[in-house]
Amino acid sequence: MGKNLAMTAFELFGMQIKANPKYGSEKKGQPTTFYAVLAHEPVLLNCELTHVDVVLSPDPNVFRHSDPLAGLADGGVFVLQSDQSPDETWKSLPAHTRTQIRERDIKLFVLDAFAIAREEASDVEMRFRMQGAAFLGAFFRASSLIAREGSSEAKVFEGVRRQFQKKFGHKGETVVEDNLRVIRRGYDQVQAVFPTPVEGEEEPGTVPHIPSLLDVPTAEPGLGNPGRYWEQVCAVCATGQDGIADPFAAISVMPAATGAVRDMSGVRLEVPHFIAEKCTGCGQCWVQCPDSAIPGLVNSVEDLISTAIDVSSNGVAFDRLRPVTKHWARETHKLLARDPKLAVPAAFETGYRNVADKMGWDDVRRAETDREFAVIRERLAAFPLARTKPFFDAGEAKEKTGGGLLSITVNPEACKGCNLCVAVCPDGALETVKQDEPTLARLRRNW
Ligand code: SF4
Ligand code: SF4
Repeated sequence: MGKNLAMTAFELFGMQIKANPKYGSEKKGQPTTFYAVLAHEPVLLNCELTHVDVVLSPDPNVFRHSDPLAGLADGGVFVLQSDQSPDETWKSLPAHTRTQIRERDIKLFVLDAFAIAREEASDVEMRFRMQGAAFLGAFFRASSLIAREGSSEAKVFEGVRRQFQKKFGHKGETVVEDNLRVIRRGYDQVQAVFPTPVEGEEEPGTVPHIPSLLDVPTAEPGLGNPGRYWEQVCAVCATGQDGIADPFAAISVMPAATGAVRDMSGVRLEVPHFIAEKCTGCGQCWVQCPDSAIPGLVNSVEDLISTAIDVSSNGVAFDRLRPVTKHWARETHKLLARDPKLAVPAAFETGYRNVADKMGWDDVRRAETDREFAVIRERLAAFPLARTKPFFDAGEAKEKTGGGLLSITVNPEACKGCNLCVAVCPDGALETVKQDEPTLARLRRNW
């Protein structure tokens, strides 16, 4: 996109260009940035730009992990990828962002470039690239360049056609036409967002979520403490602040292995969702994930029940339920072994009922235990578990109660949303879902 924009401005308006794509981070699935200066006089400046008139952001989550308004001129233009209406997008922005946009008279626009590229690209591989073409169209519409240069929409589209003919002509007319249609739609479909008052405007600020690998309450204090590193360096960057010299950089140290903490939750748009009933335990997903972000784990029924109780405790002793967990686990396991068609949640439920019915508790005790069971049942239901041949049946065949249940959890930080695991799953046990707040909260809880 950047090169086409720069070349169009050069060829059509005779402008001098200094363009600076920043490559490297895309290799780790991180966003890249591209800067361009368009001017009628020679551009002598040769550095990254910190003050700009227009920002194009194909990252819809950009306000969640940085401050993309920093450096944008007052009255500047910001075009944001969004599949929501202008009104919904406005309401979804953090309160402090809305305040800045209003106070600094920033012109905010939204464009669903992903949808345009998805609908228009003949070649699936080209979809991600063609989002940029839609943003190119949006740039010409939202920025003041055409008016400032005394040009017209028709002349710009002629120039763009020449550019794309030159660049993609050798790949065939379809590629050129696909791109031009996408640019046209970007131009026509970009929409202005009008700042309106939002109820509950004074929402409290949010603190960036600490990645699980850094959240180690038992870690030794001092320079190697990951929590301290998070607070003094990572969290500052995550709020978009430019810490000129953080205390770690100042003395050239950082805790070991922080490279492993790469939080992609603000960058990806989609995540895999596990459908346990369809899983056969083939292992393709965790073997092929390029980021080791979807480990498969096998646990015994008893371990699963006691872990569910431990993580649900939060001050509650579960002293009615704990004494019967072994019996409950054994009964659940027995039911699963006996009936290969029995769903795992149903086995937990029936297992508990069978045990509770035999206990001879009075009504009060039964009601108390049932209440505790209801909490754990909900917790277990939120954590999909698969009964599979390789991990349950084969284990049983070797040794009675040797089988375990398979869970496939997605690392909420490491997954970059590439969908490879979904593509290689032969049984349709993984599907792609849009990442929204409840989905992210579920990933974090299950991880
Ligand atoms: S979407 Fe990609 S990164 Fe995420 S778990 Fe699947 S294969 Fe791994
Ligand atoms: S989710 Fe799919 S790929 Fe992964 S183990 Fe289950 S069936 Fe195999």
